[in-house]
Amino acid sequence: MSPTPNTEYRGNIHQRQKELMLKWYERLDESAGSGRPLPVSLMISGNCVELLEAFEAVPLYPEVNALQLAIRHQSLEPILAAEELGYAADNCAYVKADIGCYLKGITPTGGRLPVPGLVLCNFVGCNTYIKWFEHTAALTGAPLFMLDVPFLRTDEPSPADVDYVVRQLHELVAILERLSGRKFDYERFQRAVECSRQVEELWSAIKNLARRSPSPFDAYFDAITLMGPLYVYRGTPEGVEFFEIALRELKEKAEQGLGVYEQERFRLVFEGPPPYPYFRTFRDMFAQWKACAVASTYSTVGGLWEFGARHDPAKPFESVALHMLAQNVTNRNYLQRYDQIARYVDEWDADGVIIHFVKSCRLFSAGQGDMREYLTRTIGVPTLYIESDLEDPRYFAEAQTKNRIDAFFEALEHAKLTGRTRPAAQEGPRPDARLRVLP
Ligand code: SF4
Repeated sequence: MSPTPNTEYRGNIHQRQKELMLKWYERLDESAGSGRPLPVSLMISGNCVELLEAFEAVPLYPEVNALQLAIRHQSLEPILAAEELGYAADNCAYVKADIGCYLKGITPTGGRLPVPGLVLCNFVGCNTYIKWFEHTAALTGAPLFMLDVPFLRTDEPSPADVDYVVRQLHELVAILERLSGRKFDYERFQRAVECSRQVEELWSAIKNLARRSPSPFDAYFDAITLMGPLYVYRGTPEGVEFFEIALRELKEKAEQGLGVYEQERFRLVFEGPPPYPYFRTFRDMFAQWKACAVASTYSTVGGLWEFGARHDPAKPFESVALHMLAQNVTNRNYLQRYDQIARYVDEWDADGVIIHFVKSCRLFSAGQGDMREYLTRTIGVPTLYIESDLEDPRYFAEAQTKNRIDAFFEALEHAKLTGRTRPAAQEGPRPDARLRVLP
């Protein structure tokens, strides 16, 4: 086997991403010292960061902190601290890393993390959020606001669902006015929503570049680099500027016919988050085979924009509510996730699907066995199912994982050589679970 190619994307995007993320940590550190800007703890999936932006509050994302700890090999100590406190081995490891951070005072950059001025539980999809945020509020003494977002039970949210969320957003405005000491600035809110719309447009264009062959970037591993600014800076001019630079760079690369690899051998779709404590090792296992991700469900946890959804400054409250209800992968049902993957396979022209089962994540991982069955039988696409964890380094078996990945590509290669790239799909129509992109 040839030596591992160096595939990590390191253009201006990488440098700018680092600067932006450090700047975010500096704002958090500043807030830890003075309580200003107001730090608000919230989740990535289906959030209302635009509303916080209207108050110049700083978002404090425990998931981003947890993954930054894991990728820097610092997650085990806080996880063990949380387990000593009584958290079970199969609790979400993100939760344990976050709680352990408070207990041990560990942060990804060594700076301070503020005690949140508000714990805002934007509950979409994963019910772990509720207990996690209740515990954070109890541990820090911060006030808790539970923003209840109904699970998407039909193709589209009902007007009553939208109204239900919008009313809660108005309640939240009153709370943010009190905690920040500022009057709600509606125009500033609209500007934040407009920035989000522009960021979504640019991010969507980037993701659609991966339809080309070769793909100019890896829509799983490189997409993760872009996801930090996507979440932290979505409703800001810095976010717009970052994604303008990113699109320009990747477009130039695509126009020159340059891909992640000189020769792109396999095109993949990834389901599930990566094992962050072994991120580089895991990536290299695919790089060995010059296998490029052209799409991933994980990169849609913050929003499903490549299919057309956008925030709308003309209806800021309603569009924030619609985003929370319908336009993030975690609040949708499994059939919709199947369909999302099937569209990636067809429209982004993939050779196979990698399903990464995360031991401690019930939301993303429960039911992936059935998903595999569906993708293999109904879609007729080769799949690989591997298991570890997104945060806990104790669940990564390197040799075993590599063996399975190598065996998968050997089979794919053989199938390509013999001209049979996909197993025969089952006869009959697919279940009717088309993604419905809302106006
Ligand atoms: S989605 Fe998974 S990783 Fe995220 S909070 Fe829920 S259980 Fe934890």
